[in-house]
Amino acid sequence: MTSNSYDAIILGAGAAGLMTAAVAGQRGKRVLLIDHADQAGKKILISGGGRCNFTNVNTAADRYISANKHFAKSALGRYTAADFIALVDRYGIAWHEKTLGQLFCDGSAKQIVAMLQDECDAGGVEIALGGAVRDVDHADGQYRVSFGQRTATAPALVIATGGPSIPQMGATGFAYDLGRRFGMKIVEPRPALVPFTLGGEETLFRSLSGVAAEVVAKVGKTHFREAALFTHKGLSGPAILQVSSYWRHGEPVGIDFLPALKPGWLVAAKHARPRVTLASALSNHLPGRLAETLADRLGVEGEMGASTDKAIDAAARQLADWRFTPNGTEGFAKAEVTAGGISTAELSSQTMESRKVPGLYAIGEAVDVTGWLGGYNFQWAWASGWAAGMAV
Ligand SMILES: Cc1cc2nc3c(=O)[nH]c(=O)nc-3n(C[C@H](O)[C@H](O)[C@H](O)COP(=O)(O)OP(=O)(O)OC[C@H]3O[C@@H](n4cnc5c(N)ncnc54)[C@H](O)[C@@H]3O)c2cc1C
Repeated sequence: MTSNSYDAIILGAGAAGLMTAAVAGQRGKRVLLIDHADQAGKKILISGGGRCNFTNVNTAADRYISANKHFAKSALGRYTAADFIALVDRYGIAWHEKTLGQLFCDGSAKQIVAMLQDECDAGGVEIALGGAVRDVDHADGQYRVSFGQRTATAPALVIATGGPSIPQMGATGFAYDLGRRFGMKIVEPRPALVPFTLGGEETLFRSLSGVAAEVVAKVGKTHFREAALFTHKGLSGPAILQVSSYWRHGEPVGIDFLPALKPGWLVAAKHARPRVTLASALSNHLPGRLAETLADRLGVEGEMGASTDKAIDAAARQLADWRFTPNGTEGFAKAEVTAGGISTAELSSQTMESRKVPGLYAIGEAVDVTGWLGGYNFQWAWASGWAAGMAV
């Protein structure tokens, strides 16, 4: 018969919950891992285009967004990218660095889920799938969780149910509801790593759907040099997703379309070849359709030699800091992660345990720690999961 009494109950069998369960189980704890989905690690399976960008070798706390920029340091310092790589290597999973320190499986994300499930098996973890959590109580130092047709109790409860991004995959705001019930503050959740939508005058750019270019995208003082991609709704691509995590409604976004070129390059190009049009000069550096659209918008007509240096220089400056204000984002339905969440002020950075409610832990995306694109979010899930797994 299945026992209903455990040392720890973990809600959410995603990246962070699987890690906590495996670590705690292998420490000899009796662990129950619950998920309402019919399969563990569903987001891992679709991550990185099916190859899971499982960590980033450049992981550091300054690549995370949080109301407390120091909070992630402890967990990230104790369970590092090298630790996760060692685990992946122990399982003989082949991997490669794609770009910017991003590590992907050569084969499939399924290997990462199978590895974490094997680690849970090694710790004797009981995994209960397909049963929605109906109720959670706390009395006499025990958490009582009702799920599916069962009830289980433990002195430790770990909230690992992630954030609400991609609700069609079973993502919910359950972590926030539960956190609030235990008096935890929630930093307002917002979609992050998400495409921008464009309205008004900017809809002209929609005609460029499918065109990509390497740019520098800026929001405030934050900037990323990576690809941007025009879509039928607005803008996407890594550079755009990265700045979206820092963006607030109404703020302008700046794009440098020609980050490789020095100021003055366009005036020099005009002097070298005065009979060339702006579109043609730009098409040496940008995809043709983008070059034409930008040239149209800049209003430099005919041969560049017919325009003053001042006008040409003004066009170059605008190309280096093209300002637009997105009318929104594609929202939680398309956001790779959720920024905000359970406030770090509520938690110990060493153990991820609540400062006020003993035995209650929160980890992973549920917490107000959001990584850059490129494996940083999984590394936070592993590291915060490991910290809780060592503590429960
Ligand atoms: C399309 C996509 C691609 C991504 N690619 C990458 C990548 O390559 N690299 C990277 O670092 N990050 C990537 N991410 C982000 C990464 O997937 C998340 O940051 C990470 O999964 C968070 O881990 P978590 O365990 O906190 O939450 P999750 O992995 O989301 O797990 C939460 C679990 O809780 C369960 N759950 C939710 N509500 C309930 C409830 N009420 N009751 C019971 N169970 C519940 C869910 O079913 C889920 O299994 C990607 C995200 C998306 C959407």
